[in-house]
Amino acid sequence: MTRRAPCEHRGAVGFGLEPGQSLDQSLDQSPGLATTLSSRRGLLAGLGATVLAGACEPQQAGTAISGAPPAPALASPPGLPVMATFSILADIVREVAGDTVRISTLVEADTDAHHFEPSPTQMAAIGRARLLVRNGLGFEGWMDRLVEAGSFSGRILTATDGVEPLYMRPGRPDPHAWQSWAAVSAMAATVARGLTTESPAAASLMAGRLADFQARAADGQARARAALAPVPVERRVVIVPHASFGYMGRELGIRFIPLGSLAPDRQPGAGRLARLVRGVRSSGAAALFADNVSGDSLLDQVARETGVPVAGRLYSDALSGPEGPAGTILALLAHNSQAIAAALVAAQDGG
Ligand SMILES: [Zn+2]
Repeated sequence: MTRRAPCEHRGAVGFGLEPGQSLDQSLDQSPGLATTLSSRRGLLAGLGATVLAGACEPQQAGTAISGAPPAPALASPPGLPVMATFSILADIVREVAGDTVRISTLVEADTDAHHFEPSPTQMAAIGRARLLVRNGLGFEGWMDRLVEAGSFSGRILTATDGVEPLYMRPGRPDPHAWQSWAAVSAMAATVARGLTTESPAAASLMAGRLADFQARAADGQARARAALAPVPVERRVVIVPHASFGYMGRELGIRFIPLGSLAPDRQPGAGRLARLVRGVRSSGAAALFADNVSGDSLLDQVARETGVPVAGRLYSDALSGPEGPAGTILALLAHNSQAIAAALVAAQDGG
């Protein structure tokens, strides 16, 4: 679970919505949830042999898709074939669509999606998908190359259309929108609109599942705010491995400081460690947290030097496996927020 290269997330910190602002209010601040569906049909030429093999797989039978090809002689399992770029998006699709889709995932649980090399099997699976759901906001820098190299001829749905982005610096949006109940509710609405375009017969089923998901998201947000209520905003400071929690910071009034931002030169050695130690001490952070797609060694070293504890592991850019504490996006948000609240409350009680 080591990351191959640091992504440019340094320095993204955030503070919360106004006290008492509801999820609905925060959604209201987002621009319209218009679904952007970029048609790629007919775009691709010059297909490789491996990919052609995938493209020639039988299409699914019996789905309600306007303009779908005739059912082939060899039946496939039912459901619209949908490809999600990473585990969190796959869960959002599953929440909204249930078994009306057959969902596949390119970057699986506990894996860093900032960097990705597809296998031949995955290239073939992309060729079979009718809808490719991506996060957007620059998260999947590898995707255009992937689509242009492969046989994909379906539609691309950008889940974060409808989310008001944070920016790491001008022109560079923070892609980690899923660390927010408001944003995942907006993303689920965008996904539902895109899926409804492909499967109009499932519209009412998906509308009901979306409403249920959004109600559970609102409940999760309320629980997190209640858990943090005893801690004044100025004491809600934690250190994390990379800048993936800005949206949670905006929603809950937590300042997340990426470890690398305290010594951005990235040259290893005693001088850098000393700067990190000084930075952590002066930040007033109550706790350090590991995450599930970053290496732990530097964080452990800083914890030893500063005496600031590593209070647990957050789930940043991927779900855990199904047996873990973050097997769904709502479980991920509950786990992260509760772990942080517990550490902040404990630090306050102890100090
Ligand atoms: Zn990230």
